[in-house]
This record gives sequence, structure tokens and C-alpha cells, in this order.
Amino acid sequence: MAGDFVLPQRPGAAAVAAAEGVDGDRLWARLMEMAAHGATEAGGVNRQALSDADIAARALLRSWGAELGLEASVDTIGNLFLRLPGKDDGAAPVLSGSHLDSQPTGGKFDGAYGVLAALEAVEAMQGAGIEPARPIEIVAWTNEEGSRFSPGMMGSTVFTGARELDTVLAARDGEGTTVGAALARVLDAEGDVPKRQLGGRPAAFVEAHIEQGPVLEAAGKSVGVVTGIEGKRVFRVTVIGKMGHAGTVPQGERQDAVIAAAAMVTAIGDAVAADGRGAKFTVGMFNVHPNAPSVIPAKVHFSVDMRHADAVKLSALGDGIVRLCGENGMGCEVDVNELSHDAPLDFCQPMRSLIGAGSGALAIPSMDVFSGAGHDARHLHYLCPTGMIFVPSRGGISHSEDEWTEPGHLADGARVLTAVLATLATA
Ligand SMILES: [Zn+2]
Repeated sequence: MAGDFVLPQRPGAAAVAAAEGVDGDRLWARLMEMAAHGATEAGGVNRQALSDADIAARALLRSWGAELGLEASVDTIGNLFLRLPGKDDGAAPVLSGSHLDSQPTGGKFDGAYGVLAALEAVEAMQGAGIEPARPIEIVAWTNEEGSRFSPGMMGSTVFTGARELDTVLAARDGEGTTVGAALARVLDAEGDVPKRQLGGRPAAFVEAHIEQGPVLEAAGKSVGVVTGIEGKRVFRVTVIGKMGHAGTVPQGERQDAVIAAAAMVTAIGDAVAADGRGAKFTVGMFNVHPNAPSVIPAKVHFSVDMRHADAVKLSALGDGIVRLCGENGMGCEVDVNELSHDAPLDFCQPMRSLIGAGSGALAIPSMDVFSGAGHDARHLHYLCPTGMIFVPSRGGISHSEDEWTEPGHLADGARVLTAVLATLATA
């Protein structure tokens, strides 16, 4: 965490008054209108990054921003900003938002809530007559989900400098379209939106988001003060064996890539089990070549997603993957490629205190929660004081068309966000 901005420890009376002006019905109506873009038959959303539905969603957001007199701008990775000027308009802005893209079978709230809660916060501030000392910018980060173009969090990582723009623009979707080509279509459709320079140093960043887990619901709290984000390492493992006839090659003379890969997955699973409850390990992708029932598999390509809240344990478990895959090769060629290593992080205490104090001042029941899911806030954390506000997810369900959050909880989260943003922007 870096930054020169000293955070206030509690919201002022004017910030609390502005927060009480949050209109939960207006927020809900906007969420439902936004969910129409990419709506699925099962009640969810398929609004993958840089798609036509994403373009339409961004246009809708800009139209709402224009109604409030906010200035839209877009940077070279497609992050979309709506700016409320400050009295000192050259001061570092307070930034708040999330993402508008979704998983192919996503819900109405993941990402969109954080963007529209920030919009609601700005409208509530305007309604309360608050004139911010510094600008407030609402942001919709490009491709948080990483479902169409991998990896995710492209907008926030390029903004913060964690990834190179050119590398990200070269990434391709399953049909071979590059991010650069898809983004050019978006920027074309937004030809009238002023361009802005990439990056910058915000005074602070606050992201509201659904919890995507069951903790708040179980505890009966409306708001979670997010203490930090779990660490994550992502690997791709390629196992190359030898193709052969399932009936003629003797069992002892085979280099079967599936048998070897299965042994690797079992060995990694055993190591995770031995570690105890903290580690989480997923092999969500497992591709077999040639994937024919009577052919000895020549190649397996699989993913490993390893997560832990403890940096040392995450390092040890992740480092063990290379060794365990090598030990279980069974004569196959093995290649382990690490795609990313994000250490666990703790959001700065002053931001957590301010969010907690905001909840308290509004008499909204809150508790500390830890995030098992990654968010754009992860990357902003290394740039400026950053915090997150969670609202409950029914049944802990997300990345699903069944995703649901009660309107009252959404409004409570937006109230706390308003109190925090108003405090930061007038400090
Ligand atoms: Zn999200």
C-alpha cells in the first residue's frame, strides 16, 4: 500500500446525511435494467468482456452518468470512467467501481453492483448538496472475469502497471479474436467518448461487491468490511505420453498421459489434504488428446488453481506442484507452467476502520469478512489506500444465474459506500 492521502477515521455528519439519501429502489431498477443486456433465459447474465452486450451495458452506464452531469472518458485498455469534478479538480480522485462483464452463465449482481452502487453514491451526494473537495471517479474495469479473454482483471492490471498493455492486447479468445481487435470495436462504438491517459495515482479506491460466499448471510449481517483477499497461484500442466492402440500395447510398455496426470492430481490433492483446512485446490480444466476411447492418450493439458490465506503455505504448496508432477510422470514428458502468483493481502487498517465506522454511523449491521475470490481491488491495493464493502449472497452462490442479493442489502451496502466516498472526497 502506498499513497500520501491520510484517511479520515470516521464519516462526518454531512457524509452520513448523504448516505441516508441513497434510493434503494433506484439502485434496484438500474441493476435490473443493466441485467437486460446479456440476459439469459434462466434469469442470469451472459455479458462477456468486449461483447456486444458489454458495449450496450457501457452505453447505458454512460447515459446514466450524463444525466448526472458526469464526464465520461475511456483509457487505452477500455476502462470506462465517469467523473464528478472536485473543487480542487487537479487533486487525486477518489475512485470507486467494479466491472460490467460477466461469466457466460453469470448473475445480475457480480461486478455490476459495484459500478451502480458507486453511481448511486454520487447521485445521493449530489442530492445532499455535497461538493467534493477532490474529484470522484466511477470506474468500470475491463474484463475482470477472464472468461472470454484470459487472464482476467485486464483493466485494473494494465491501469496499475501490473501487466503490459501490449501483452494483454495480444491475448485471444476461443475463436482467435484478439483483445486488441475486440477492444477496437468497443472504442469505435464509443468514438464520441474522450480518451484519457492510462494509469494515475488515485487518492483511494473503494469497491462494493457481492460476497460470493455464505458468511454474511449466515451471520445475519448486511455489510462485510473486507479484511483482505486470499492468495492464489495458477498453473497449467502439460503431460506428453505416447499414442498407441488400447488393445495391442502391453500395459507395462505404455506412456499413458492420463494415468500420469491422474497420479499428479492425486498427489497434489494429498498434499493439500495434509495441509489442513486452509488450502483450496481445483483442477477445473482437464483436456485429453486425442480423446478417443480406444487410443492411449498422448497428451493431457490441465489447470491447477491453488489458494491459501497464508503466504508461506501458498508458496510451499505451489512450489510442491512442480516436484509432485515430476515425481509422477511415469515416463511421460512433463511441463509445469505457472501463469500467476498473487500473494494473499490485507487491506489497510485505516480504510477498514472507515468502512466499519460508516456502517456503525448508519446503524447497519456489519462484520469483518475475508475474500476467497479475487477482485480488481487486489491490484489497486498496491497503488493507493483500498478497501472493499461486501453485501450478502443468498446461499453463497455466484458465477451462477441463481445469484441473488436482497434489495435491502444492496441499498445498505450503497449507503456505507456513500458515507465512505463522501468522507474521502471531502477530506
Ligand atoms: Zn466480480
